[in-house]
Amino acid sequence: MTKRISSPKVTNDVIRQHKFTLKKSLGQNFLVDENILRKIVEAAGLTEESHVLEIGPGAGALTQFLAESARRVIAIEIDQRLEPILNETLQGYENVSVRFGDVLKMDLQQVITEECPPDVPITVVANLPYYVTTPILMKLLTGDVPIQTIVVMVQKEVAGRLGAVPGEKSYGSLSIAVQYMADPEIIMTVPKTVFVPQPNVDSAVIRLNVRPDKKVEVADEAFFFRLVRASFAQRRKTLVNNLMNNLFSKDKKDEILAVLNAVGIDPGRRGETLTIHEFAKLSDHFQNLINEQE
Ligand code: SAM
Repeated sequence: MTKRISSPKVTNDVIRQHKFTLKKSLGQNFLVDENILRKIVEAAGLTEESHVLEIGPGAGALTQFLAESARRVIAIEIDQRLEPILNETLQGYENVSVRFGDVLKMDLQQVITEECPPDVPITVVANLPYYVTTPILMKLLTGDVPIQTIVVMVQKEVAGRLGAVPGEKSYGSLSIAVQYMADPEIIMTVPKTVFVPQPNVDSAVIRLNVRPDKKVEVADEAFFFRLVRASFAQRRKTLVNNLMNNLFSKDKKDEILAVLNAVGIDPGRRGETLTIHEFAKLSDHFQNLINEQE
């Protein structure tokens, strides 16, 4: 393919020509720094065999660089108003397909099956919309798509959550989901000035290298993540209260206490103090109780 990337500065021109109004509510802070775009693609370690999923192509600035480096790019964009702009910026790139819709509502496994050969590992590369960063990462990490690497721009504060440990303020379900299956790395911090319009916060590019083996063994992965999410649902509540309100029914208090007792976990502890190993143990011990309930 011939190198024909239009300078990302064109993003500004394209937006103006199409009289496009950026929507803050959709996290539309477009990247206009060619150096950063190149570094993101470099961090993804793409080859001619790579299959890439991009979330939120916006005006297509990053998408063009991805299309130059990978075999195939599938880009999911919520804002259909960007269609004429993307038609223009991605013109000639036959290895890109853009799907319009909300990534959180899409069956990603289905999309990948339709677009890629079976079982091909997927690399996710994106400048994520910040209002939905956590749900998107949770969906990618706990879903069925065979993801190899994730390289994404996030708020600097979110980058801090990835490696957080119990007791730290930023420790939460995202920290556990990431550490369960990947080794997180901060590639670089990024100033506000490289976006149009400038966001209120600084950003960071992170890489999640998905490991073949998980940090802990659990009998039912989907239930493990439900338990983790429920335990952090209301951070100020104790573990037993969170489990009663968000996972089991209220009349199961005695059964919940019995399991916590058997595992040796004080019911007055908060979710934010539990290690990933304790969550794994709890997940296996709660299996019977959830099966009875459902
Ligand atoms: N990739 C472009 C860039 O780097 O300049 C745009 C990045 S911008 C931070 C985030 C993009 O995600 C926007 O284009 C926005 O419309 C899109 N978006 C927001 N919410 C989304 C969702 N739920 N599903 C898919 N795309 C979404």
